Amino acid sequence: MSEIISRDTLDHLIQASYFIAILLFILGIKRMSSPVTARRGIRQAGLGMVLAVAATFFLPNMGNFFLIISALFVGSLLAWVSARKVAMTGMPQMVALYNGMGGGAAATIGAVALYADSDYGVVIMSLAVAGGLIGSIAFSGSLVAYAKLEGLISKTMRFPGQQLFNALVFLGAIGCGAALLVVEGYPFELITVFFVLALLAGITITLPIGGADMPVVISLYNALTGLAVAFEGFVLDNAAMIIAGTVVGAAGTLLTQLMAKAMNRPLSNVLFAGFGDTGGEGGGGPEGNMKETEASDAAITMAYAEKVIVVPGYGLAVAQAQHKLWEFCERLMERGVDVKFAIHPVAGRMPGHMNVLLAEAGVPYDLIFDLEEINAEFDEADVALIIGANDVVNPDARNKKDSPIFGMPILNADHADNVMVVKRGRGTGFSGVENPLFFADNTQMVFGDAQEVANHFIQGLKSLAE
Ligand code: NDP
Repeated sequence: MSEIISRDTLDHLIQASYFIAILLFILGIKRMSSPVTARRGIRQAGLGMVLAVAATFFLPNMGNFFLIISALFVGSLLAWVSARKVAMTGMPQMVALYNGMGGGAAATIGAVALYADSDYGVVIMSLAVAGGLIGSIAFSGSLVAYAKLEGLISKTMRFPGQQLFNALVFLGAIGCGAALLVVEGYPFELITVFFVLALLAGITITLPIGGADMPVVISLYNALTGLAVAFEGFVLDNAAMIIAGTVVGAAGTLLTQLMAKAMNRPLSNVLFAGFGDTGGEGGGGPEGNMKETEASDAAITMAYAEKVIVVPGYGLAVAQAQHKLWEFCERLMERGVDVKFAIHPVAGRMPGHMNVLLAEAGVPYDLIFDLEEINAEFDEADVALIIGANDVVNPDARNKKDSPIFGMPILNADHADNVMVVKRGRGTGFSGVENPLFFADNTQMVFGDAQEVANHFIQGLKSLAE
C-alpha cells in the first residue's frame, strides 16, 4: 500500500476515518434516544465501528493479519448467530456478556503493555494499570451478572464480613497496581497478582447483589468498560478508542444514574446494601382474596369505559402479546374509549423494553407516556389494565417500609376506579414480593397467558358488535 500512497497520506486517511467513525458513534447514540430513530442510530454506530476496524488494519507496525482476521471472523459469527437467536427477554444477559467482553479486551491491552515491560512513560503506564483494573472488574463482574440473570447462579451469596473482605480485595488490587508503577521493571508475579485480585474484586462485589438490582449493575459495568477502553486508547495512542470509550463511559454513567433514580436507590445502596434479593419478602403476605373474572366480561367493562390506561410489564414480553393487545386497544379507540399506555422506567427486563415492544406492534408514540407524565391521570381513569406487570404497580413500594421494594416509584394503577390484572396465576414479579393490589376491592384478575387473554378481549368486543 505504501508504494501507492505515502505513509503520511495513509496516516491522515486513518485519522480522517477515525474522525468519521466517531461522528457516526455520537450521531448513532443521539438517534438511539428515540424509538423513532433508534434503528437508524444502531446502524450508523455499527457502520462507524466497521470503519474504525477497517482503518486500524492500515496502522504502521500492524501484523498477524491471519490471526486478527480469524478472530474477527469467529467473533462476528458467534455474535451474529447469538444475536439473531436471543429472545427479547434474554436481552439483558446478552448485554452483560458483550459488555464483559469489552472490559476484558481493554484489560488485555493493559496486561500486554505491562507484561511486555513497555516503556511508555509513567502517565501512560498509570493509564494502562487503571484500565487493566477497571476492565478486569467490568469483565468478571459482568460475567457474574450474566450468570445470575441466566439463572446459572441462583443464590445471592453473602457471608459475615463480606463487605470488609470485598474492600480488602479491591484495595489489594489498587495496592498492587500502585506498586507496579514504583518498582523497577514490572515484575511478572506482581502483574499476575494485580490482575487476579482485580478479577476477584469484580466477582466478590457482584455476588452479593440481588437480582432486582442487576440492571443497574450491568449499566454501571458498561460505564466502567467505556472508561477502561478510553484509558487503554491512550496506551495504543488510538483517538477512536479514547473518544468512543469516553462516550460509552458518559452514556453508561447517565443510564446508571437514571436507573438508580427510577428505583429510588442511591448507587452506593445498590452496591453495598445487598438489596434486591429475588426471594426476599418483607413481612407477611397481603390479606384478602383475589377476585377472578372472565376475559369477555373484562373486555365489556373496558368497552363502556371512557378512559383506559394500559400498564404493560414483563409478562407481555414473555407472551409476545403486544400485537394482540394493540389490536384490542385499537378496537376500544374505535368505540371512542380514550386509551393510553403507561410505561414504568424498569418495566420488563431492560431499559426501554416496553417501548420497543409497543413500537414493534405499531402503537403510536403519542399514546405512550412515562411515569411522571401519566401518574396523575390514574385518578380519573375508569380502568387500569395491567398486563403482565407486577412490581411496577406494587403499592407496597409506597406504603410498606419493610418491603424490599419500598421507595421505588410506582405507577398509580391502584388509583383507577377499576383495576384489571392479566397474569397466568399467583406468580410474583422479579423482586419476588407479593402484590397487595391483586387483593384490593377494586381489582379483578383475568388469569391466563397475556396473548390468549388479549385474544379473548378482542373476541369479547366482537361479540358486542354483533
Ligand atoms: P414483573 O417481573 O414484576 O412481573 C411480571 C409478571 O408477569 C409476573 O408476576 C408473572 O405472573 C406475569 N407473567 C409472566 N409470564 C406471563 C405470561 N405469559 N402472560 C401473562 N403474564 C405473565 O414485571 P414488571 O414489568 O412489573 O417489573 C419489572 C421487574 O423487573 C422490576 O422488579 C425491575 O426492577 C426488574 N428488572 C428490570 C429490568 C429493566 O431494566 N427494565 C432488568 C431486570 C430486572 P404469573 O407468573 O402469575 O403469570
